[in-house]
Amino acid sequence: MTRLFAGTPFDIPPRCDRCGELEEACKCEPLGPERMPAEKQSAKVRSDRRKHKRMVTVVWGLDSVACDLPNLLSKLKAACGSGGSLQDDQIELQGDHVSRVKDELKKIGFKIAK
Ligand SMILES: [Zn+2]
Repeated sequence: MTRLFAGTPFDIPPRCDRCGELEEACKCEPLGPERMPAEKQSAKVRSDRRKHKRMVTVVWGLDSVACDLPNLLSKLKAACGSGGSLQDDQIELQGDHVSRVKDELKKIGFKIAK
């Protein structure tokens, strides 16, 4: 099968928005009943200073069962254009991106707790 825009920048095959794999290659389980919509979850965001004066942005307060944290991490990394990782149930992004992270979380639908 050839697609109309195959080989051009317009040719963007559909990807799973959870694992980032091509939909054909995606092996995600369907969302279980334990997952909650973002609208029902509150996230907290703060910046923190680590060793060597490195700033990180920390997202915490989310339940790792109710929320797909690895998926959220990759969305936030893309939004901030920086690296990050999961530390237990906390998302840590390199750099001080508090306002951008809050905007992105709100865009997804999360509530931001004070
Ligand atoms: Zn997937």
